[in-house]
Amino acid sequence: MIRRFYQGVAGVADTALDADLRVTSPSVLQSLQLIAGGDELHEECGVVAIHGHPDAARQAYLGLYALQHRGQESAGIATANGLHLANIKGMGLVSEIFTDDVLQKLPGSMAIGHTRYSTTGDSALLNAQPIRVDSTKGLIAIAHNGNLVNLGNARRSLERAGAYFQTTSDSEIIVQLIAHSRASSLVDAIADSLAQVEGAFSIVMMTRDRIFAARDPRGFRPLSMGRIRNPDGPDTVVFASETCAFDLLRAEFVRDVLPGELVMVTEDGVTSRQYATGFPQSSCIFEHVYFARPDSRIFGRWVQESRDQMGRRLARESAVPADVVVPVPDSGVTAALGYAEQAGIPFRMGLIRNHYVGRTFIEPEQRVRDFGVRLKLNPVRNLLEGKRVILIDDSIIRGTTSRKIVRMVRGAGAKEVHLRISCPPTISPCFYGVDTPSKRDLIAANKSVEEIRRFIEADSLAYLSLEGLLNSCDGQEHNSYCTACYTGNYPTQWVDVDEILPATVSI
Ligand code: SF4
Repeated sequence: MIRRFYQGVAGVADTALDADLRVTSPSVLQSLQLIAGGDELHEECGVVAIHGHPDAARQAYLGLYALQHRGQESAGIATANGLHLANIKGMGLVSEIFTDDVLQKLPGSMAIGHTRYSTTGDSALLNAQPIRVDSTKGLIAIAHNGNLVNLGNARRSLERAGAYFQTTSDSEIIVQLIAHSRASSLVDAIADSLAQVEGAFSIVMMTRDRIFAARDPRGFRPLSMGRIRNPDGPDTVVFASETCAFDLLRAEFVRDVLPGELVMVTEDGVTSRQYATGFPQSSCIFEHVYFARPDSRIFGRWVQESRDQMGRRLARESAVPADVVVPVPDSGVTAALGYAEQAGIPFRMGLIRNHYVGRTFIEPEQRVRDFGVRLKLNPVRNLLEGKRVILIDDSIIRGTTSRKIVRMVRGAGAKEVHLRISCPPTISPCFYGVDTPSKRDLIAANKSVEEIRRFIEADSLAYLSLEGLLNSCDGQEHNSYCTACYTGNYPTQWVDVDEILPATVSI
């Protein structure tokens, strides 16, 4: 989605196989929007790429299946067989779109895939990816995870140069920059174009005979490279947003694509170049807090390890006498295990999550207050009744969902409810691919911790300190992280002024 950004506040003969097919499952998006309640954070994507596999489409499908948590509204797979480039995308879950029949329409030994969360108001199917563009450099398909921040000028000058945009997606700007680059070779044109855009991007691209993978110079979003051993020929090279995809593909983790690196895979093997250097790394710490799966290794560190440490540090920083530690599932579970072990208090699954919410028909009763949360979560009364409960969650956004959960636990008979959050207060929006509300809607940007406690009706409330979070995520590679949603200090010069104004009236 194109947004308005301002600087300086913070500091080829084709055949029918090339058809751009689209598959729709319209009820899914509508259902998800109805029950979301607007108080959860979403990331916009997961990407995968496969080079050198006889059934590349099916491998991409498996990779996307493992990355489904990164976006559930649309998905797409493009394949190439040296001559043709096919592309199919649709609304819904990966398994709903890519049936056996659909996968058979995607021939070739190379594939890229994408699964997406679409932001409110955009044209979801139009902006589903991969995006395929027929350019002066030939056919290019692109799939992108992240968000670019200096788009307005780039788009306007491209349009003046004759570019015709099919979508409002920022990914297409990269392809148009490639198409309009004066560089003589395709790889030079890609490097040249990536160096011109600012923001967060982990990208996979494909032509008829090559795969490219790149990360932005600050390394906001993760992207890893793996290998499937083939005893009878060259290995299959794979890329994925998270390493959990490699497990399903039976691929070995090789390494992370580096910030500012462009990797190219051809029949001759893997080559790489740094298209940008000298930028401080600012990987998204929220990947460790919430987005990534605990069985993934992100930015050189296991997510499970980081979340366990967050829970342990939270227990040390804000201990409170209690009978049980209860996670808000699913993302609060690992931190709650760490908290419970550190505090010596029993861990109990006192809330059960319904994993099928949003995939079924929503009854008219949805208008009833709290129905959205009750659809998703249900208390286990016999674990909560008469107990002093420590609830562990990973964020408070507007505060409305947290209040409903606190009320639900109290309604199930809990004597006391103490809420602990495994990261600092979210005080500023994200411009790098996480769909956060603007500052005026973030409760922690407009209220003190005590005011938030009263609003959510908890007996006590505490957040993990920034130092505690950074120490929890600090692995052997000593990553440097973006923490802008907790500090307001943005690593890029471009931010959306409208989005960082605080509320003028209390929310
Ligand atoms: S602002 Fe927050 S969510 Fe966005 S990239 Fe930085 S740490 Fe991640």
